[in-house]
Amino acid sequence: MAEVMEGKLNSAQAMELENKYGAHNYHPLPVVLDRGEGVYVWDLEGKKYYDFLSAYSAVNQGHCHPHIVGAMKAQAEKLCLTSRAFYNSVLGKYEKYITEYFGFEKVLPMNSGAEAVETAIKICRKWAYEKKGVAADQAKIIVCGENFHGRTTTIVSFSSDSDARNNFGPFTGGFESIPYNDLNALEAALQDPNVAGFLVEPIQGEAGVNTPADDFIQKAGALCKSKNVLLIADEVQTGIARTGSLLAVCGNCNCQGNCERQATYTKPDILILGKALSGGSYPVSAVLADDEVMMVIKPGEHGSTFGGNPIAGEVAIAALEVVDNERLAQNARKMGELFRTEMQKMVDTTSIVSLVRGRGLLNAVVINDTPDSKTAWNICVALKENGLLAKPTHGNIIRFAPPLVMNEEQLLDCVRIIKETILTFEKA
Ligand SMILES: *Cc1c(COP(=O)(O)O)cnc(C)c1O
Repeated sequence: MAEVMEGKLNSAQAMELENKYGAHNYHPLPVVLDRGEGVYVWDLEGKKYYDFLSAYSAVNQGHCHPHIVGAMKAQAEKLCLTSRAFYNSVLGKYEKYITEYFGFEKVLPMNSGAEAVETAIKICRKWAYEKKGVAADQAKIIVCGENFHGRTTTIVSFSSDSDARNNFGPFTGGFESIPYNDLNALEAALQDPNVAGFLVEPIQGEAGVNTPADDFIQKAGALCKSKNVLLIADEVQTGIARTGSLLAVCGNCNCQGNCERQATYTKPDILILGKALSGGSYPVSAVLADDEVMMVIKPGEHGSTFGGNPIAGEVAIAALEVVDNERLAQNARKMGELFRTEMQKMVDTTSIVSLVRGRGLLNAVVINDTPDSKTAWNICVALKENGLLAKPTHGNIIRFAPPLVMNEEQLLDCVRIIKETILTFEKA
């Protein structure tokens, strides 16, 4: 215990502590991170790694970005939390900034991604009863198979992942699941006049960077509009420049990442953001909508003690400024193309990798083995030994999502590590 207090842990001891005292709700790769800067993290023994997970795309701006950390420190020394019982001197400024940044009239600030999804569900249902005229308790929200929207009781109610659901019932009703990227199924589901919303990830991150047809969101949005149904985009993972444009719903406008402020994209009725909204430095999430939708929420009907706190506001402004100042969408687009081109060469010339897919710097490679095989996990352990951290998602798929501040030289170094490591798993 004295060792713990003096901070002289080694990695084995740190892992032992987590295993002994923490709930076993994760299965981490065996590496203990102690420090981060930009695209790099270091373990307790001082070994340096490229981070190719970015905390599930929360650290888009790179680890410990000085502009974000500076904003957080300055505000932490001034005022941390007031609750929403009172006004604070940062919240209004932040609300103006983020609504103008994304082109919506209102924002509702929360902390985690799951809370923001819950918030969107509540807003959508209330809108259905008070604006669309759906009969009491009949509102239905359409979701997609293999979705990931978080871990609360309501959200796991419409998950198709048995680990997320098993023995967590009874579940919340009012959701109907259709296959992802299936406009016919959406059109059929929209025939029900009680449908209030369509909740969708523009690219399914957790499902293995499941990338739909280029025009899927655009056409889904048009179908929803024709039936007076709200398009709810969960961009907690895909948003904030990750996929090579500010939002993934801009993905098909051929703007080369330059159209962030133009209306040439499919504007969702409700936009859900989290993760990189703080550059991974603080839990900050947000739900954005126009007045017609957002103003159904009245005082006392929804809230959060920490949502909209002054530190969160300053941190989010700084994090969004970094995205602009460092042109992260454009960089993600360029580096992403390079990454997929290089991975495609491996797909073409070896049998161990069967597919590479993704957009911007949200990519995945599919390992040519059964979904329940250990190959992808073993490759990630070997990548770790070689100085690069990534994690399998859905068995035999490895997601590659580095911080968006990665430059070309670093990316090519990573491509080399990935190729050399994966090739050692090629069966003779
Ligand atoms: C991570 C994620 C969430 C949940 O965010 P938390 O902050 O972990 O609650 C929701 N939706 C998507 C698409 C995500 O990737």
